[in-house]
Amino acid sequence: MTISAATTGLNPSPSLQRDAASAAFFDALHAGFLLLKRCVAQGHVCAPDALACPSCAGTEFEDIPAKGTGIVITWGVVHARLGTAGASPAETVIGIVELDEGPWLHSALVGLDPATLRAGTPVKMEIRRSPDSEPMYVFGPNRSA
Ligand SMILES: [Zn+2]
Repeated sequence: MTISAATTGLNPSPSLQRDAASAAFFDALHAGFLLLKRCVAQGHVCAPDALACPSCAGTEFEDIPAKGTGIVITWGVVHARLGTAGASPAETVIGIVELDEGPWLHSALVGLDPATLRAGTPVKMEIRRSPDSEPMYVFGPNRSA
């Protein structure tokens, strides 16, 4: 298996910083859960960054916690050469996850071998923490599904 950010769990986004719009989202990640939005008008569950409900165009939301589980919809492997001459290219698996609540999220996929990954693979959220950044979610295997 290739040593990579995907398999080592290195922080995929080391420079995340909060602002007023993202404070509640990052506070939830610090507390160990993913925050979704639910439109007040009709109760549709929306992605954390939704500005308007994709189902009814409502713009008033309430926050709800996600279960943190879902399935892989699609994925790709990003190959990037590290700075050291002759080093093996770093390999990061990224994809789209459909949460059990419905929204689709872009995410790093960790601990999943892209050679055997399949659409519909059950995944579970993990939180990556870094001392110089806000935490961020990634998704890894859900062995209890
Ligand atoms: Zn709605």
